[in-house]
Amino acid sequence: MMKVMKFGGTSVGKPERMHEVAKLITRNADSKIVVLSALSGTTNSLVEISNFLAHGNREGAKNTIEKLHQHYKAFIQALVQKEENRKNANQIIDEHFEFLNIILRISFSEALNKDILAQGELMSTKLFCVYLTEIGVDHELLPALEFMSIDANEEPQLGAIRIKLNDLIRKHADKKILVTQGYICRNVRGEVDNLKRGGSDYTASLIAAASNASVCEIWTDIDGMHNNDPRIVNKTVAIEQLSFDEAAELAYFGAKILHPTCIWPAQQENVPVKLLNTMQPDAPGTVITKEAGSVGVKAVAAKDGIIAIKIKSSRMLLAYGFLRKVFEVFEKYKTSIDMITTSEVAVSVTIDSDLFLEDIVRELEPFGTVDVDKGQTIVSIVGNEIAQTDHVLQKLFDALNEVPVTMVSYGGSAHNISLLVPQDYKTKTLQLLNAGLFGL
Ligand code: ASP
Ligand code: MG
Repeated sequence: MMKVMKFGGTSVGKPERMHEVAKLITRNADSKIVVLSALSGTTNSLVEISNFLAHGNREGAKNTIEKLHQHYKAFIQALVQKEENRKNANQIIDEHFEFLNIILRISFSEALNKDILAQGELMSTKLFCVYLTEIGVDHELLPALEFMSIDANEEPQLGAIRIKLNDLIRKHADKKILVTQGYICRNVRGEVDNLKRGGSDYTASLIAAASNASVCEIWTDIDGMHNNDPRIVNKTVAIEQLSFDEAAELAYFGAKILHPTCIWPAQQENVPVKLLNTMQPDAPGTVITKEAGSVGVKAVAAKDGIIAIKIKSSRMLLAYGFLRKVFEVFEKYKTSIDMITTSEVAVSVTIDSDLFLEDIVRELEPFGTVDVDKGQTIVSIVGNEIAQTDHVLQKLFDALNEVPVTMVSYGGSAHNISLLVPQDYKTKTLQLLNAGLFGL
């Protein structure tokens, strides 16, 4: 059985980190597929190049390309020592930068943007393979563009991925280590595309599902998912075990360690996901499985940039069809709703994108009064069978005595209570909950 091991940008961002990754994948003889992100900072630079080009600023794009090229040249010097491998690695890098320089002369398009963004993962995997060659580790590079695909709605095509990937795995049955790119894929038009920022986790989970892997390991630089945001509160602890549902809610509502949609493929095929730390490879990390492990509150997470929209019906007390009409507006603009609360005459919803806000408000106005509150934060309390946890609501509201909570969503899911607070109160809310719910 295969094992999937995914390493993020910081795990491959320095030559010595990449050496460490090589050690981690050769610790045992298991067959594995190694999924790599771009070197940390690269995707951001590529986004910058794209933005410059979209605004016709060739000079800006050229400078960023040049700086990035220098960065890779220095990286190679420390990555490999043998002359032949350095030459090889430089040749690979030069080809990709030549491509970027050619792009400077082509008129910008969305397809070109995706091509630019793909360069990071293409380079990191090829460089890693040069290093594996230098240290004599037998391996094969599987190009993700040959098996990873998305449909017309930009959803991964797990069925097609399974067929193509397993063909490739069979073709290289003699190799114990297969290396591939995270993030990148092909779309329905056959063009290069991607699984959105942070999408390498999604790649790993899709590969784990498609190959029926024994485990999907996500290696980062933190020892698993924590009970609270370590950047905001002083004392946090790693969570030992989570269910797929709990992990998905946490990722979606702000835990930065996992891509929010990446859980479902692993969940569908029941492949356990492990969040592990490259700095402490023997620490247990967080294990995500079908079972939750324990009952009760496990973590809180916050998601910023939320917009609350309140629609107060003008006429109808309990008129039927009101909610449908409201929701149809959001559907029309492909804007998903995160939280909902209703009263007899009003409904409040939250969204996380203002892309179509004006259109949405305009189309909601015929139904009643519409109020918009920007700058909100959703704070989610996640756990297993949370509603059955003793005094959970009491503890929650006691802790948040001084916080102006503007929406509460409870009962929709057995493992989530969500609150809406003004963004300015986020830090305070997370700190108060850390004390009130976890005694930390
Ligand atoms: N390199 C991509 C990004 O920075 C994908 C990833 O690292 O997961 O978003
Ligand atoms: Mg990531």
